[in-house]
Amino acid sequence: MMAVGSETRPEEAIPQHNRPMTREVQNVTHASDYPSIKRTDPEAYAILVAEGRRQDTCLEMIASENHVSKAVLEAVGSVLTNKYAEGYPAKRYYGGCRHVDEIENLAIERAKRLFGCEHVNVQPHSGSQANMAVYMAVLNPGDTILSLDLAHGGHLTHGLKANFSGRLYNIVHYGVDRTTEVNDFDVIRKLALEHKPKMIVTGASAYPRTIDFAAFAAIAREVGAYLTADIAHIAGLVATGLHPSPIPHADFVTTTTHKTLRGPRAGMLMCRAQHAKAVDSRIFPGIQGGPLMHVIAGKAVAFGEALKPEFKAYQQRILDNAQALAGGLQKCGYRLVSGGTDNHLMLVDLRQVHADITGKQAEGWLEQAGIIVNKNMIPFDERKPTETSGLRIGTPALTTRGLGPSDLQEVAGLIHQVLAARGSEEATAKVRQRVLEICQQFPIPH
Ligand SMILES: *Cc1c(COP(=O)(O)O)cnc(C)c1O
Repeated sequence: MMAVGSETRPEEAIPQHNRPMTREVQNVTHASDYPSIKRTDPEAYAILVAEGRRQDTCLEMIASENHVSKAVLEAVGSVLTNKYAEGYPAKRYYGGCRHVDEIENLAIERAKRLFGCEHVNVQPHSGSQANMAVYMAVLNPGDTILSLDLAHGGHLTHGLKANFSGRLYNIVHYGVDRTTEVNDFDVIRKLALEHKPKMIVTGASAYPRTIDFAAFAAIAREVGAYLTADIAHIAGLVATGLHPSPIPHADFVTTTTHKTLRGPRAGMLMCRAQHAKAVDSRIFPGIQGGPLMHVIAGKAVAFGEALKPEFKAYQQRILDNAQALAGGLQKCGYRLVSGGTDNHLMLVDLRQVHADITGKQAEGWLEQAGIIVNKNMIPFDERKPTETSGLRIGTPALTTRGLGPSDLQEVAGLIHQVLAARGSEEATAKVRQRVLEICQQFPIPH
């Protein structure tokens, strides 16, 4: 991180490699945004402009990120941030809630149409808080949760020792099979029968294959466990029918709203009607105070976008692009965990082509070229989580920019050029130039 003094002009706050190299690229920056911040707070302004420029001039391939619409940005930046609204529509602890009631009801109604759920709570500040509310709704501290190992694609809130989930509950993990690298339901069933969990959690942050929610539900039913499906990553695919929905199978479905769903950074919680009271009272007053009404407005707007036919076409293109990227990487010799992908992301096992390169190095070199990915453990990784042997790469954000399958094939080649050259200055500069041209050809829609 570089320090940004009040004297610093926006251009100087941009690391060298992210500075625009052509006039055209300069034109797609956010320099004209934030007129009030520009006037009152040059220090903060410089940082915001630099970040806008970074996003404009880099290829965002972090699987959990996206570029929201200007409409969602406006909602999140709206006057609703001024309002306290503890409670739920028509049951608030504050006066003046008429219009925030309307926006929350609109978000609820649209979420129900989008996912076909019986009950939804749109107040969770984040995906983590949605999960926390579910656990607290039906579990007691010390109860057993059976969930996917973090090192095999699970999430912090599925039982990491340092997370509240690992501290409060007795966690038993299932992993993926060593050869197929996908869920093995014989093993999961055996673990469930042996440990008698009170809840089974499915869903992942880094799992490239379709999740069989019905198979999880059968095991949960057999052992009398609640089933929670955390669809944080795949919510957009689920909403459009491009991934099977867990709604018919799971007691609880949690999600974020900012990944494939392309809404504001936040969470959401769906459940069967019988659990409605329990989860609502766990969110408020259980673990949250006033809801972020401006973010809930962003959810309403994003769900409205997701209900349009174009959104399904967008999700299909995310999948097409993932296939093209996976094919391109495999053509360069890379091994993908599980042999490919069914969804928006893939895990690259770097060891096959570059035994000496860690995920951490690869992430750093690619960032120099303007390609943003994250290092990631691959199943049974011998390296530490801070080093890793893999990269997680996703297509939601590039698809929002308008890139198509042939572009993703080219990007696969660009990634390979940087890694094959071990991030050499010459190769990186060449790829960086091409990345800028692509960014210029596909500006972030505003
Ligand atoms: C992203 C994610 C979350 C939670 O996200 P927050 O950062 O807390 O909003 C929860 N579960 C899974 C599987 C995720 O990928």
